[in-house]
Amino acid sequence: MPASQKIEEILNFIKQCSPGQDEFYQASHEVLYSLLPLLNEDSRYFDYNILERIVVPERSIIFRVNWVDDTGKIQTNFGYRVQFNSAIGPYKGGLRFHPSVNLGIIKFLGFEQIFKNALTGLQIGGAKGGSNFDPKGKSDNEIMRFCQAFMSELNKYIGKNKDVPAGDIGVGAREIGYLFGQYKKLTGEFDGVLTGKGLNWGGSRVRPQATGYGSVYFAENFLSVYNKDLKGKICTVSGSGNVAIYTMEKLYEFGALPVTCSDSKGTIYHEKGIDMASLKAVKEINHESLESYASLHRDCVYTPVSHYPENGHAVWHIPCDIAFPSATQNELTLIDAMKLMENGCILINEGANMPTTAEALEFIRKSDILFSPGKAANAGGVATSQLEMSQNASMEQWSFEEVDIKLRQIMRNIFHTAYDTSVEFDCEGDLVTGANIAGFRKVADSMIDQGSV
Ligand code: NDP
Repeated sequence: MPASQKIEEILNFIKQCSPGQDEFYQASHEVLYSLLPLLNEDSRYFDYNILERIVVPERSIIFRVNWVDDTGKIQTNFGYRVQFNSAIGPYKGGLRFHPSVNLGIIKFLGFEQIFKNALTGLQIGGAKGGSNFDPKGKSDNEIMRFCQAFMSELNKYIGKNKDVPAGDIGVGAREIGYLFGQYKKLTGEFDGVLTGKGLNWGGSRVRPQATGYGSVYFAENFLSVYNKDLKGKICTVSGSGNVAIYTMEKLYEFGALPVTCSDSKGTIYHEKGIDMASLKAVKEINHESLESYASLHRDCVYTPVSHYPENGHAVWHIPCDIAFPSATQNELTLIDAMKLMENGCILINEGANMPTTAEALEFIRKSDILFSPGKAANAGGVATSQLEMSQNASMEQWSFEEVDIKLRQIMRNIFHTAYDTSVEFDCEGDLVTGANIAGFRKVADSMIDQGSV
């Protein structure tokens, strides 16, 4: 049977077994089809039923989280941990707290995480977790009680050599602190069971900056192949959270100019460049919406979501040389991609996980725009988490420079792994194919070595 027919069969199986899990289907579709050049030349992956096995999580845990709000009322949320694949190491992947979270979202993120973690060259398997809990508008005490309740269940399934969660959307240093405190209380163990910890209690320098910095290092490597660099480039960035902020910070260091940021309510366009001090004050300290940034800077343009282009996002309609989607999945659509091309964008570098819709991705891959897939470009976060685990295991704490140098080297290696694989399969510069094949091959070969488990 031809490989493409086999892939269709597996995708049909996913549709039947995972109804309504659109994002998981989208991610599987992209990964499986991009493997065709490898599958056509190596029949072992069919002989050992690797595709059928790799799209099914090793374990999906769904649990109830009861917590008490500030009025004394008991609230209930769903908790999830999908331990997708442990062929190359203990499960590793973030926790997301956002009202949109459901099993399909966690499965798509966990699936992507398998290949991302493999690409880092480190021994970590793929997982993801989270809850439909909405941290917005909650008091600090409510967030603490929620995190404690969440960990009261999650602690049964994680461990420093088993599964090591980290942050993601809605889970930053504060939440990791409350989760870790509860884990320690329940188990009596002080160990590296979570990453993204505070510096005083086992965290790594550069972890907060790692995904954003890593994303820019990735872009630097990609551009250099085409004798281009970041200096003087106008960059549009979406999001204004962890990834977006440290992407912008690093862009400034490279002499580029980030002119936009966004949140769930609207988009800022600041032609002279985003002011990092006010953005950090608004988002990291005061946890306010970007309207507050606009009120501090009368020379910027604020576009609320209600004024976005139909089926599109205002950020991508602002002319730029390089686009850094760094907020959430499916935030860059076909009309956005067409606009980016019309405006002369040379590179789309995904900081978020799967921010580009399937239609937009198809269009971009046929265009001249360079494209860095998130599973490669945003792998700096998980790579630095692994550096945190190494520091915990050896009871060391490395300097900022030491970690940053290692991060830059890891991003260089990830880029070259993806790029060299694209060359190997005669599609030079197609990093979707290169990253997926390189990540898949490492995991799939390990699954074959380990037999039917
Ligand atoms: P944060 O929670 O720090 O920030 C998320 C940002 O995206 C916020 O500006 C938020 O707006 C916006 N956003 C989130 N959901 C939506 C939505 N549905 N519609 C519009 N805007 C939205 O998350 P991170 O920066 O950590 O994560 C951003 C992306 O990067 C995610 O895709 C994540 O999976 C990915 N990623 C993160 C890593 C990390 O180390 N943190 C590692 C690798 C990938 P608002 O403030 O209004 O909610």
